[in-house]
Amino acid sequence: MSSAYYLNQEGWDVTVIDKTDLSDNCSYGNLGMIVPSHFVPLAAPGMIAQGIKWMFNSRSPFYVKPSLNMDLISWGLKFVKSATQENVDKSAIPLRDINLLSKALYEELSVQPGFAFSMEKKGIMMYFKTEKVAEEEIHLAEKARSMGLDVEALNKQQAQALETEVQLDVLGAVHYRCDAHLYPNQLIPQLIAALKNKGVQFKTNCSVEKIIKEGNKIKSVITNNGVFEKDMVVMAAGSWLPQLTKMAGVPVPLMPGKGYSFTLTEPARKLNIPSILCEARVAITPMNGYMRYGGTMEIAPVNNKINIKRVEGIVQSVPKYFPNIQLQMPQEKDIWYGFRPCTPDGVPYIGFAKKVDNLLIAGGHAMSGLSLGPATGKLIAEMASGRQTSMDVTAFNPERFS
Ligand SMILES: Cc1cc2nc3c(=O)[nH]c(=O)nc-3n(C[C@H](O)[C@H](O)[C@H](O)COP(=O)(O)OP(=O)(O)OC[C@H]3O[C@@H](n4cnc5c(N)ncnc54)[C@H](O)[C@@H]3O)c2cc1C
Repeated sequence: MSSAYYLNQEGWDVTVIDKTDLSDNCSYGNLGMIVPSHFVPLAAPGMIAQGIKWMFNSRSPFYVKPSLNMDLISWGLKFVKSATQENVDKSAIPLRDINLLSKALYEELSVQPGFAFSMEKKGIMMYFKTEKVAEEEIHLAEKARSMGLDVEALNKQQAQALETEVQLDVLGAVHYRCDAHLYPNQLIPQLIAALKNKGVQFKTNCSVEKIIKEGNKIKSVITNNGVFEKDMVVMAAGSWLPQLTKMAGVPVPLMPGKGYSFTLTEPARKLNIPSILCEARVAITPMNGYMRYGGTMEIAPVNNKINIKRVEGIVQSVPKYFPNIQLQMPQEKDIWYGFRPCTPDGVPYIGFAKKVDNLLIAGGHAMSGLSLGPATGKLIAEMASGRQTSMDVTAFNPERFS
């Protein structure tokens, strides 16, 4: 949607093709956090050891489903190779910059007619309960400050002073004041409505099945509901991206990272500031008067089974940090899940395919796809028009694993 928005703004005549009716996808039930704070990619030192420990706990926040699936094995090997300090160091600035660009674009978008998506700039809190995590988070906060981000480490009393309704049982917190949040269930329909207003065509329930190339160009996009011949193709298919790029002969390694959320529309207690419970890897966002709880990362091929134990893991971790929030297990019908499109190095794919002149790739944003939407769309539109991009896009090269 973001690519369509900025392409339309650049004067392109845009058609959005989607296999669903666009009433639900990963961009709806997420936690709505806009996160310059997330400059450390998922593939970081320590992730492998931690991941292996978590794999033996069915309620743990991170899980790679053991399988002989070749895509998973190949992705896993690349992930292990990427989980280095070098990857963290070279990704930090591009991830910070694209998040800051996106936040600025959200601020612009939030005052446009037709948009009211409850954007708030209160930052996010990283709560910790153990000395070990306190040390890691405070170290990270110092790094963030040295990178120019507005961040402060707080003791328990200072953190409690920012939350009036919710009692804290934590050692302390880091407050990333540079972050923001919004209500994705307002944003996405408003983007769709704005695009329709501007004349963007929508072909929904229309699945891309085949790509026909002529020389170095895509000639036609074949769907179950028509054939499309266009000057430029942008593939932005979330966790299904590799299936689409493969049709054009461009391999991009990517695995779905399934996560869950549930939203209380009448919460007994509300947080003031969105929060991440560090040890539990659970996120909580007050949005539009509601409270949304979410987390867990199951790396496995797309499947529509709800793993109730993972949701229990979320529910049970909350009172450990906030004793006066006692949650009931949500009913299965109220549990939302989505598939985060995860690249092996935790950095998105944004850019032209090397050998297909009219193919742009926009995906692989993992746990930051809501945050990075507008910046990705803007960069895609600038590249499509052959203009200077708003930031250096080298780190996002979609074919860096080829
Ligand atoms: C629990 C959870 C919490 C999260 N919290 C946050 C957060 O706080 N902040 C943040 O920034 N991010 C968050 N995320 C991540 C974020 O939601 C994703 O990164 C983002 O939604 C991905 O967007 P996308 O447009 O790439 O993919 P999607 O939203 O999944 O869209 C991909 C689209 O491609 C279409 N498609 C696929 N195949 C085809 C085909 N063959 N033909 C036509 N169409 C096709 C699909 O129908 C779909 O509509 C969270 C994710 C989860 C699961």
